[in-house]
Amino acid sequence: MIEVRNPADGSIVGHVKHHSEQEVREAIDRTCTAFHAWSRTLARQRSDLLRKWFELVRQDRQDFGELISRENGKCLTEALGEIDYGLGFIEWYAEEARRVYGDTIPSHAADAAVLVTKDPIGPVASITPWNFPFMMIARKVATALAAGCTIIIKPAEETPLTAYKLLEYARHAGIPEGVFEMVTGDPATIGGLMTSDPRIRKISFTGSTQIGRLLARQSADTLKKLTMELGGNAPFIVFDDADIEQALSGLVAAKLRNSGQVCISPNRIYVQAGIHDRFVQRLKEAVEQVRVDQGLQPDFVVGPLINQAALDKVSRLVEQAQSSGAKTLLGGRLHNNGGLFYAPTILTHLSDDMEICSTEIFGPVFPIYTFASEQEVIARANATEYGLVAYAFTRDLGRAFRLSRDIEAGMVILNSGSVGTASVPFGGVKQSGYGREGSYYGIEEYVHVKYMLMAGLGDAAR
Ligand code: ADP
Repeated sequence: MIEVRNPADGSIVGHVKHHSEQEVREAIDRTCTAFHAWSRTLARQRSDLLRKWFELVRQDRQDFGELISRENGKCLTEALGEIDYGLGFIEWYAEEARRVYGDTIPSHAADAAVLVTKDPIGPVASITPWNFPFMMIARKVATALAAGCTIIIKPAEETPLTAYKLLEYARHAGIPEGVFEMVTGDPATIGGLMTSDPRIRKISFTGSTQIGRLLARQSADTLKKLTMELGGNAPFIVFDDADIEQALSGLVAAKLRNSGQVCISPNRIYVQAGIHDRFVQRLKEAVEQVRVDQGLQPDFVVGPLINQAALDKVSRLVEQAQSSGAKTLLGGRLHNNGGLFYAPTILTHLSDDMEICSTEIFGPVFPIYTFASEQEVIARANATEYGLVAYAFTRDLGRAFRLSRDIEAGMVILNSGSVGTASVPFGGVKQSGYGREGSYYGIEEYVHVKYMLMAGLGDAAR
């Protein structure tokens, strides 16, 4: 069995099965066997099943929220927000299932017709992380099922209880065995079995760039289609002409979500020199108001980090920066709560050669850099191997367009700290991966285009 602990206090939340290699093989077999029938169901049937799943989960939103909070550590307010975000994908793809349209193309031959269909790509395997235990799975499963694919998920071992609860509700909704399967156990073994099986036609992965590269390498021999949602190093740029209050609230919300353990979390905050001092002072006042606590209570609180390794990494990055000359405006140390809590931290006087600048922090740390010109900050924003999201605050329309054109990222968010919803394409470039999730682009990842030539149509007059 795998033991699941609450990162807020170490208490045991539950157990899930550690599947043996044989059990994983059997689950993959079921996923592959079910594909034939599932891919031939009517779009309307798939849509109705997704809708039913959506409704059942929504009825028990509170139970799901408490479970997420207990196994992940995020506060209940955030957990419920995650559920609404995840449910949005199930609802969206219940609708989208009916709209996987093909094309007809004007024929190149006199007695022929050309048709293009979008066929489900095949059985899919997916590996998901612990930071959004509900949404990640809802998003991947809903998209796959809508397209006519079957899917097997390996959730993160830190947060498998929410995953299995989602599976249970899918079964109640009538989504059959094989169509949606789940396994937990040794990640490397399961990943190896998923990627080496030639029947699995696609891998959808969300997690670190390092494991993404590994899975891509492992998938090369069987040439699988891949969606890779990997690490980020988001710049958050505040220009002199920005609406400061808007930028502050966007920053605090985006940064403290899930205690900073989010791939789109602002990781490098660039504040233009003219407003720097005022901005950091206001930021300090805002962050001081935020409580740090375990999450099962009505208000927003910053929760613990997921495990000791995460806490050690954040501590190390902050200490390195401090010893290289960074100034600590707030926090800069473990939180008084003890355990896995890290104090919300603001660092200033940072430089781009510090490790904290090139590394995804994954903690409640606001690293503030200053800049002089637009040209300079664009170059610095792009000086990273990652390219997931970039945020910028400015009221200059021309500048807003230049930034969205020139910043190398899959997503550019202007004058807001909020990125995701079901109707938009989420994903990155460079070492942040490829492929998109959400919106009608998301479903394209789960289909292949089939061209059909119907020649020899003849002539009715003959
Ligand atoms: P994080 O550091 O945020 O946990 P990871 O990339 O390590 O990011 O984990 C994301 C997911 O990848 C988790 O479900 C984890 O179990 C899985 N994972 C970790 N190592 C491997 C591996 N060698 N093969 C397949 N999956 C893995």
